[in-house]
Amino acid sequence: MKITFNGGAREVGGSCTVVETEDARVALDYGIKVDEGLAYNMPGDLDAVIVSHAHLDHSGNLLTIADKKVVVIGSKATREVTTELLQDLIKIQKMKGNAFPYNFQDVCKLSELWLTRNNVALPGMEISRYPAGHVLGANMVQLKTRDRTLLYTGDFCVHDTEILDGVDVDALPREPDVLVMESTYGGTIRPKREELVKSLFGKILETMERGGNILIPAFAFHRIQEMTRRIDVAMGAKLLPRYNAYYISGLAHRITQYYQDYKALLSKHVNMQANPFNLQRVRRVRRTEQIKEPAIVICTSGFGHAGASRSLLSKWAGNKDDAVIINTGYLPPNSPLVMAKEGKIVENGESINVNADIEQIELSGHADQEELIDFVKIIRPKRTFLIHGNLDQAQALSEKISKYTDVEVPHKNESFGI
Ligand SMILES: [Zn+2]
Repeated sequence: MKITFNGGAREVGGSCTVVETEDARVALDYGIKVDEGLAYNMPGDLDAVIVSHAHLDHSGNLLTIADKKVVVIGSKATREVTTELLQDLIKIQKMKGNAFPYNFQDVCKLSELWLTRNNVALPGMEISRYPAGHVLGANMVQLKTRDRTLLYTGDFCVHDTEILDGVDVDALPREPDVLVMESTYGGTIRPKREELVKSLFGKILETMERGGNILIPAFAFHRIQEMTRRIDVAMGAKLLPRYNAYYISGLAHRITQYYQDYKALLSKHVNMQANPFNLQRVRRVRRTEQIKEPAIVICTSGFGHAGASRSLLSKWAGNKDDAVIINTGYLPPNSPLVMAKEGKIVENGESINVNADIEQIELSGHADQEELIDFVKIIRPKRTFLIHGNLDQAQALSEKISKYTDVEVPHKNESFGI
């Protein structure tokens, strides 16, 4: 078996790991770097691409193989959401006036290439998927070749979150020859989720009681569904008063339909309800003008670089007393929310001082360092490759797990014979 780390090595973004044997050549994920767009130098000549989940840093480059005879393997929910996200990617490129060589027909062609069964056999290779707890439809992937086994984690979450159970570690295969594991938070120990939710509610209460606004930039896929339901349920249970609360994102609205269709993938306490996303207290609006302030607004884009979150960031960033902007997920270093945390954003070439509080309350869908170490101790891989993490995070984790497994932090395009 030969493994090549074509993307997502020593960084977060553009995930792609190629595994080849004398019988078959497959890619585990085929992602883009969201701020760089499609890549045309990705490995070709593949028998299959296995997609762990629909986030574009794992699936976005699939468009470039829509015309090839490649099998795409992943869950049904991942197929549906990837289709929505790719259509949105094309729409954004067109709106920006960028020349973009793919269109909606390519997305349709692509969706016909998918095999969504849990177990798929290729020549000399068996492929099995297991729920990964990260977002709707996310999977870990086991590859079994004639003489080797490999477990690919994709992005995963060990603890239960608002609408998903964490990974069922008991169901996973043990002692693989190779573990390819994400390390987004490999060097970070996060507070427990209950603590983070307490801080979130505390911040909302404090701000709303003084008549301020709360902006929560969030991704259309998963984070909006998670946050809107979290706040709706909290208001229903009177953990929060009934404030004006909205979400803005047509894409999130469309994606939420799949949460209903694939309800069985969600946690039991959510899927036992007939309509878990029929929200009573968080209202969908189409435009920021429809917001009645003071308000809690959950909206796209997640990094604050476009859409309603961008315009509300510009509108509210200057207000020291009445605005709080809460980021709840991972942020790439050059995103507007990171700039806002540093005190300035740029709008139409003009610099705006940020006086509003910028809070980072990371309700992440990733395992943290302690959880990653425990995972390795339970799975007992012979050899581990850490990907999907910036170098400092991957190296910090590498030091911690080296007593349990042979561990490497591969370079981009580096290959290993196993
Ligand atoms: Zn992800």
